[in-house]
Amino acid sequence: MAIKIEKKIKGYNVVKPEDKAAPAAAPEKAKAAEPRQAEVIQMHESLERPETLIGSTFKIKSPLFEHALYVTINDIVLNAGTKHEQRRPFEIFINSKNMDHFQWIVALTRILSAVFRKGGDVTFIVEELKAVFDPRGGYFKAGGVYMPSIVAEIGGVIEQHMKNIGLIHDPEMSDSQRALIAEKRAAYEAASAKKNSDAGTSAPVGAASAAITPAESEAGSFPPGATLCHKCNTQALVLMDGCQTCLNCGYSKCG
Ligand SMILES: [Zn+2]
Repeated sequence: MAIKIEKKIKGYNVVKPEDKAAPAAAPEKAKAAEPRQAEVIQMHESLERPETLIGSTFKIKSPLFEHALYVTINDIVLNAGTKHEQRRPFEIFINSKNMDHFQWIVALTRILSAVFRKGGDVTFIVEELKAVFDPRGGYFKAGGVYMPSIVAEIGGVIEQHMKNIGLIHDPEMSDSQRALIAEKRAAYEAASAKKNSDAGTSAPVGAASAAITPAESEAGSFPPGATLCHKCNTQALVLMDGCQTCLNCGYSKCG
């Protein structure tokens, strides 16, 4: 094939056949130097299901459902015993006494299982499910986390499971950020305790202390009256120095 040269030729060199062979040979040499590795098994639809799978079952209790839902996620261990060892979700089952939503639940679990078996990055499922909201309204879980729907909670369960098996990693919160949140929380609790003790002169002492104790005794819960933080979906937003501050993720309206 003729090549039309439209620019001026400023320089040239002659390529000999051995020059062409050299770069191709180099990577081969590098490959040979690497230690021999076990063949890496990737996930795909035809990967046969082993007789036994390990997994976890989570219980979901929602005010939107009469009976609890039991979500079981079973994992497959790929390349066991090698440095490529990886635990991945393989199938999901949802059981409940409640048969009202049976067909949708079966459809959802079949599709989710199929996506798991396809391989590749399956963590996107979590965000897709967590974004589903129930038009009848969501509900609060213990600890003040808002669930916009039961499907979102299933997404939350899958997320928890993926964290447990090391497929999803929590974004690291820096020590200074953690310290700042702890400091803000301590300041808020000190201020509200003072307010309560001031009010205690007129109200019975028992009532005042009862109002404080739930926040202190329950680890991970937030002061009563805290509102929903839209960044982390947790009821942990309090007013501090005239500024809405989240005691869970550190979000502040004033920056
Ligand atoms: Zn927050």
